[in-house]
Amino acid sequence: MDCIFCKIIKKEIPSVIVYEDDDVLAFKDARPIAPVHILIIPKKHMGSVNDLIDKDVKLAGKMILAAKKIAEDFNISVKGYKLLFRVGEWGGQEVPHIHLHLIGGAKLVENIRPMAK
Ligand code: AMP
Ligand code: ZN
Repeated sequence: MDCIFCKIIKKEIPSVIVYEDDDVLAFKDARPIAPVHILIIPKKHMGSVNDLIDKDVKLAGKMILAAKKIAEDFNISVKGYKLLFRVGEWGGQEVPHIHLHLIGGAKLVENIRPMAK
């Protein structure tokens, strides 16, 4: 499969990995929008949140707990951060392998509004 994040999982293309366990991998975003910008992904390919089913509850929880741990490791827990899933075209998702953005290290503006027509 020609999925860039599956290639990162298989270490076929380079990334800066900050967390890894049996089910989840986390690495630095190549185009960070904040001082800390990490992507947390499941090691099994899934397209987006739309593909989650009941048996993925534990995996989805592991992604969130990995984000929490990484936030602690990067010392951004106390000040706070954002966790973001983009889903599909209107959600702005570019890479079709589900990923959770961990964004922090600075005070963040809110910018979640419909596009102007
Ligand atoms: P999204 O728009 O939610 O699908 O986010 C995709 C993210 O993946 C973007 O923030 C990109 O900067 C990031 N990205 C794309 N390719 C790579 C890569 N090879 N290594 C690290 N991050 C990447
Ligand atoms: Zn994939």
